[in-house]
Amino acid sequence: MWLLLDKCAKGLLSVVLPVSCACCGCAVGGLAEGSVCESCWQKVRRPDFRRACCRRCTKPYPVEIAECDLCKDLAFRKAVYCGVYEGAIRNVVLELKTLPHLPKKAKQLLFDTYLEASLSCDVIVPVPLHPDRLKERGYNQAEVIAKALSQMTGIEVDSISLIRVRKTVKNRAWATRTDRIRELKGAFRICKPRRIANRSVLLIDDLYTTGSTATACAQALLDSGAKDVSVITLARRL
Ligand SMILES: [Zn+2]
Ligand SMILES: [Zn+2]
Repeated sequence: MWLLLDKCAKGLLSVVLPVSCACCGCAVGGLAEGSVCESCWQKVRRPDFRRACCRRCTKPYPVEIAECDLCKDLAFRKAVYCGVYEGAIRNVVLELKTLPHLPKKAKQLLFDTYLEASLSCDVIVPVPLHPDRLKERGYNQAEVIAKALSQMTGIEVDSISLIRVRKTVKNRAWATRTDRIRELKGAFRICKPRRIANRSVLLIDDLYTTGSTATACAQALLDSGAKDVSVITLARRL
């Protein structure tokens, strides 16, 4: 319904107003690629899995390392991202906050990243929103991404086992990574442990900043018997 309304609105607007790229302002050929032009999509900085990086969080480094300083105290096995949080990818993350839709290009990047990073899993779990936030927004943006990956891989999505039981303040500029990890401890809980036990979980979210949200979710999943937890996000702040 949302998607249909958005398409109708954009279609009508494009008749009266020229459609321009949300990143660079140039004219966009069509609506299939969302509101960003081909050239901005080409500029997305993707991780190169053949080059040196931290094997845990895939942040690029001059030499290969097993775990970087940013990865200490993190509970998941590996975290990968589709693109650096800027330009087209940043635009997708921001638009996902108001519309439950992932452009075709973003879906392709997600699938390519999943394959290139050799992520294998039994189940895809979106990072949940607190029920109050879910009520406000009407949907969970991480679930939209999870469903898109599920459609392309055939791996099931479990959106009910992991729940958020405590609200936290997001993106406080002054909060350090350690503050965030402490703040999020116990913010997530597993309500269906039998669905998680002995399974390899791929946790999915829109944005990776310090890894504190992902690690709090991963810890809850591991405490409930998950075999291991990997993480994939659309974007990452580097
Ligand atoms: Zn552009
Ligand atoms: Zn790292």
